[in-house]
Amino acid sequence: MDRHPDFPHVPERLSGLVDLAYNLWWSWHPEARVLFKHLSSPLWKECIHNPVRLLRRLPPEVFAAAAADPDYLHRYDIIMHRFRRYMTAPNGWFQEAYGTGPGLTIAYFSAEYGLHHSLPFYAGGLGFLAGDHLKECSDLHVPVVAVGFMYSEGYLHQHLSADGYQENITERLDREAAPITRVTGEDGEPLVVRVPLMDPPIAAYVWRVDVGRVPLYLLDTDHPENPPACRAISSRLYSGDRELRLQQEIVLGIGGRRMLAALGVEFAAVHLNEGHSAFALLELLRERIEAGVPYEEAVREVRGTSIFTTHTPVPAGFDVFSDELMERAFGRYRDALGLSREQFLALGRHPDAPGAGFNMAMLALRLCGHANAVSERHGAVSRELFAALWPEVPAEQVPLGAITNGVHLPTWLNPRMASLYDRHFFGTSPNWLEEHDVEAIWALVDGIPDAELWQLHLGLKTKLLNRLRERRRRAFATGAEDPAKFVAEGVLMDPSVLTIGFARRFSTYKRADLVFSDPERLRRILTHPTRPVQLIFAGKAHPDDEEGKRILQRIYGFARRPEFEGRIAFMEDYGEQTAQYLVHGVDVWLNNPMPPLEASGTSGMKAAMNGVVNCSILDGWWLEGYNGRNGWAFGTDVPGGDRTGPDADAVYRLLEEVVAPLYYETGLDGVPGGWVRLMKESIRSCAPQFSARRMVKEYVDRYYPQLLACAATGYRSCTGAGVNEEFALVDEGV
Ligand SMILES: *Cc1c(COP(=O)(O)O)cnc(C)c1O
Repeated sequence: MDRHPDFPHVPERLSGLVDLAYNLWWSWHPEARVLFKHLSSPLWKECIHNPVRLLRRLPPEVFAAAAADPDYLHRYDIIMHRFRRYMTAPNGWFQEAYGTGPGLTIAYFSAEYGLHHSLPFYAGGLGFLAGDHLKECSDLHVPVVAVGFMYSEGYLHQHLSADGYQENITERLDREAAPITRVTGEDGEPLVVRVPLMDPPIAAYVWRVDVGRVPLYLLDTDHPENPPACRAISSRLYSGDRELRLQQEIVLGIGGRRMLAALGVEFAAVHLNEGHSAFALLELLRERIEAGVPYEEAVREVRGTSIFTTHTPVPAGFDVFSDELMERAFGRYRDALGLSREQFLALGRHPDAPGAGFNMAMLALRLCGHANAVSERHGAVSRELFAALWPEVPAEQVPLGAITNGVHLPTWLNPRMASLYDRHFFGTSPNWLEEHDVEAIWALVDGIPDAELWQLHLGLKTKLLNRLRERRRRAFATGAEDPAKFVAEGVLMDPSVLTIGFARRFSTYKRADLVFSDPERLRRILTHPTRPVQLIFAGKAHPDDEEGKRILQRIYGFARRPEFEGRIAFMEDYGEQTAQYLVHGVDVWLNNPMPPLEASGTSGMKAAMNGVVNCSILDGWWLEGYNGRNGWAFGTDVPGGDRTGPDADAVYRLLEEVVAPLYYETGLDGVPGGWVRLMKESIRSCAPQFSARRMVKEYVDRYYPQLLACAATGYRSCTGAGVNEEFALVDEGV
């Protein structure tokens, strides 16, 4: 796609900058980021690190100057060489392991993607997992094509009123200034996909995001042909309105499948990231049935070539649509499937709650031959949750595996930290970054002098606190405000003080206010005369979640109170960029959800690879990550019951007796030796194991060969639950 006509002011000599700006490869290669920043540091900041906007706004003189600067050109040539080599290298890990046969592509479906803050297409962890998955597939040359939504209003921005009430600000995405490209058809006109079911069919434009080698195609229903209500289908994430939500999932699943067909993308198998896109399976079924394949055979083919990743441990986390709504939307579509009303609705029935409606997870489990949870514990919980579908086997034998989540290391590792590892790993392991899932390499952190790691960490902490102050400074300059608000936003934060970060969505089960169970005890801990502690919170409540907003407001209220002496701060508008500052810069990452409700959690993994020490309840990934030497674990591992008191007490005791004393136990050089040992162990044990590299390799090794073999043999050699007679599904009425 030639985008250069839109950038006539960028000289030919530097035209690669345009290609670079439109490929998110730059975002996980710090040296490429510098190329943009060097053009104009102030404007780079003003454009909030969005290179497309930067290139649009920079005047021609700046490019002319850069094109005449030998140093800049030298750097440019090196980076463009690396970028082109990355994009054109024919083979990578995947080809070495599995060969280069044709038709190996996997279609990956997700309702959200967290890739970079210039693309607000995410709400939280599920999106970052999908984004990190794509980046890692690109790095490993795994042939993936991704499908998602172009949310024109993104996820809401958060602004807090003076009393800490969350106000949601909608910001329309400026399509011109985002790293997205409109896809055109052969006639040069914008490609339009038509999604059936609704009357008239919904028209959707298609946009493309380049994630390294992986293309991500996004559906956009903001098309003038659609009635206004339908134009809004793709404007926001996860509508609370049931009908709109159903329409979103129809567009994502069925529209997504049709979009790939319109693009001429062929794929051998599908991977559903959560059940929102499960209607894609129906469309794959319909295509086969219309081609004359008998129903049972069609189901077998779809099952043999699909995998479903479930992300929630609670039944309420699955989308359920009423029979009436389903009948209205799918009345005619099911004729094409050759199913009666009852047979069709049975595909989404929960055997234990047949009257509850059409459950998307049940649909996904019935039509995907492979399924997995996102941590070992979540696997066990999910097998219980779904046991009713496999009445013949005991719950622990329910065919649902577990692949623990991981995070894309080049995205989440701070660049200064990466160069520290570079300096100290290079002599033994010059390719450490290319091989970062090799556990043995990480023992090299022991060779980093304590003082060097500590100084770097302090620098990152200062950077975080400067960021808090800087935000406040800008707001101050625009008008007088309540001083307590300044304090609550962190202007009194001190880089020499032990700093705890807590940042996540304000869902009730995450218990953001656990540490406020006994405010007086917390006050004593925070304002200790020689071992003070400070807390930084960040996170958004879902716009419809009043309880989440109340919890947030309560915390904000504490942050404003004088008796806490400015040791509590709330950082507004948690998103990709704020997350980067926090996971690089705090000392401790606190996590205290109600077990077993944290399916995995990933922010603690981002923290750990940067030497931030986890202090977490034993749930999700930490059950696998904690080794007794790399942080702290608390909480008794019993589900149910009101455990707020005991859990809060456990956190207080840890802070009073273990965490704060260790932090302030410094040698004559001012370096806390015991603490740095913990940081090193945290890096060593978590970075390789909880990398997206380990995760993607596990998906590929465990599932992709079976999926691909099934497709490649004309569906003769298909394995997987539901296909395997041993695990025959309950096919009520089908
Ligand atoms: C990593 C990340 C998440 C997910 O973190 P959890 O630990 O699963 O809560 C959510 N939001 C942002 C901005 C992130 O970077």
